[in-house]
Amino acid sequence: MNPSWTLGCVLCGKRYAGLDPRMRCECGETLEVNHVFGDNIQPEIFDSRLGSRLPLDRSGVWRFRELILPLPVSAQGRVVLRPEGNTNLYDLPSVAEWVGLDRLLLKHEGENPTGSFKDRGMTVGMTVARLLGAHAVACASTGNTAASMASYAALAGMRAIVFIPEGKIAFGKLSQALAFGALTIQIGGDFDAAMKLVEQLCLDRGIYLLNSVNPFRIEGQKAIGFEILQDLGWEVPDWIVLPGGNLGNCSALAKGLLELRALGLIPRVPRIAVIQAEGADPFYRLYRQGGQLQPVQAETLATAIRIGDPVSWRKALRGVIASDGLVEEVSDAEILEAKARVDRAGIGAEPASCATVAGIRKLRACGTIGREERVVGILTGHVLKDPDTTMGYHRGTLPDYVPSMPNAPVRLEASEDPESLLRSIRALARSEQV
Ligand SMILES: *Cc1c(COP(=O)(O)O)cnc(C)c1O
Ligand SMILES: [Zn+2]
Repeated sequence: MNPSWTLGCVLCGKRYAGLDPRMRCECGETLEVNHVFGDNIQPEIFDSRLGSRLPLDRSGVWRFRELILPLPVSAQGRVVLRPEGNTNLYDLPSVAEWVGLDRLLLKHEGENPTGSFKDRGMTVGMTVARLLGAHAVACASTGNTAASMASYAALAGMRAIVFIPEGKIAFGKLSQALAFGALTIQIGGDFDAAMKLVEQLCLDRGIYLLNSVNPFRIEGQKAIGFEILQDLGWEVPDWIVLPGGNLGNCSALAKGLLELRALGLIPRVPRIAVIQAEGADPFYRLYRQGGQLQPVQAETLATAIRIGDPVSWRKALRGVIASDGLVEEVSDAEILEAKARVDRAGIGAEPASCATVAGIRKLRACGTIGREERVVGILTGHVLKDPDTTMGYHRGTLPDYVPSMPNAPVRLEASEDPESLLRSIRALARSEQV
């Protein structure tokens, strides 16, 4: 196979072959996919596939294949897919009112097959692993990458090895990695320590690395932006807001939107706002102070963005600047409040996702985002990923935090006398006006 794309260094520009298994340039910086797009790519092609029954067309990633990874027809049968994407774009008036917007649309990436947007990158990364003839794949993960990689590796019949930081992973995610059969190694350190170990292991043993340093995962994640535009009939919103951890997703969103503009499919790019947790905010500091990224010791209850040394900061910063975007930070308390509203609207999301909504509220409060502007927020992960935080919120057991709208389960004593239990239930129903 003779790919139409090459890999290019984000810093020095050195080029490598399109299907090189390397993750970094000789200079140490990350790589990205440089496409030579075919001509005559039109939105109508992607819209026409919406009614198709072909798995490749039904995937919210591969539907945009000309923009993601243009494979020859002979290779298309080797694509590893679930299929992913096709997530809902929710119009939630109660959340809009809470953040101070006339209207707020939330793209729920938690509705992907394994419950997070990671599936969009993984289908492309795992397909490339297969095209390269890899025997095993590995990643370091705060949880969702592990869950996603384990699933896609099982589909592809490949061995999966995941490194996770001990004690700092939500149980929903860990249980998925185990269930899907990944060799799961808990590291007595944080994500950043696990990341360094896994990069070394992959180099030593010829294992294909599927962290977001992998340039092909970034290509798949571009489809979040493509699908938002398709959902909106190719009308460009004013803002797209998302949480930032390792910063692969922000890099992907910006890259995809800039490519769409270069191809003339959209007239301008939305402004991208990246929201970090205060306890894991190296990108926010970089945005404020300039210079090089200074790693921090990360701490936040939003475990999916508990990352102190984000690998894709250079790509992400370039994307934020090119979109006339910005970086904001929010506290864990603000994340929890936002999560309570998103959950209560009947949709729900994991804590890191709700940094998006907390960030929109903050940017509205200081007037950066106007009340009438058209804002799309990305919810990155499913509410079931982290049941402990949700239960802690509603039971009021989270440390140093008093929830504003707790909803703890009501306990009624079991009684010998069924009549008296029924009386208690009736009294409760009356007081709750049911
Ligand atoms: C991975 C992840 C993030 C962070 O995305 P990055 O690409 O690492 O910035 C945010 N939220 C959830 C739920 C995630 O799984
Ligand atoms: Zn280089």
